[in-house]
Amino acid sequence: MIFQDPFASLNPRMRVRDIVGHAPLVHGMVSKDKLDDFVDELLVRVGLDPSYKRRYPHQFSGGQRQRVGIARALAVSPSVLVCDESVAALDVSIQAQILNIFMELRDTLDLTCLFISHDIGVVRHISHRVAIMYLGRLVELGNNDDIFETPAHPYTRLLLDGVPRLSQRHFAFHHITGEIPSPLAPPPGCHFHPRCPLATERCRQERPQPREISPGHMVACFEA
Ligand code: SF4
Repeated sequence: MIFQDPFASLNPRMRVRDIVGHAPLVHGMVSKDKLDDFVDELLVRVGLDPSYKRRYPHQFSGGQRQRVGIARALAVSPSVLVCDESVAALDVSIQAQILNIFMELRDTLDLTCLFISHDIGVVRHISHRVAIMYLGRLVELGNNDDIFETPAHPYTRLLLDGVPRLSQRHFAFHHITGEIPSPLAPPPGCHFHPRCPLATERCRQERPQPREISPGHMVACFEA
């Protein structure tokens, strides 16, 4: 797991060597005498100087702290990484560096990354497959091209309409009308119906099930 806030997710009383090395040591994946070399290798892999391993989290910048978080996640040789808004707390230039690390690790270590984000540009840059969720339900699932070139769900289309484009000189922002309902008392039928421009009576009463509209492209909408 790699968390959103790299500072809050690192124990301030532990040195980087222990933050990164603790789990593999406990799980018997590395012996005590080899721990330093093991941690050095991981720090190099995420672009940190191994001599930093004696430092505490407060002695790093936000981007460096997130690299420590990535090294900690990699230390137990995962096959799946869950990255929960992992770049949202970072400056844009640092975000790009961390995203590049994710993509490099994904390809070199053959990792699967479940990357959760509200930043649609980041999602487009990093993902092979994309799942769009609204109020706790999955509304559309497809390959990167399916979602960004031929979006089918009204919510996905409205989301993408809100992304500014450099090629457009004048941009009229079309926001989604209405408030997000409470997930504790979601609307009946399709959760999106109070805000959907295509909603019909059926949408107010019946919950749309995901259906495949092209190979691998699923949409939960009656009108798609
Ligand atoms: S099922 Fe109806 S309300 Fe829901 S997204 Fe489709 S058209 Fe809109």
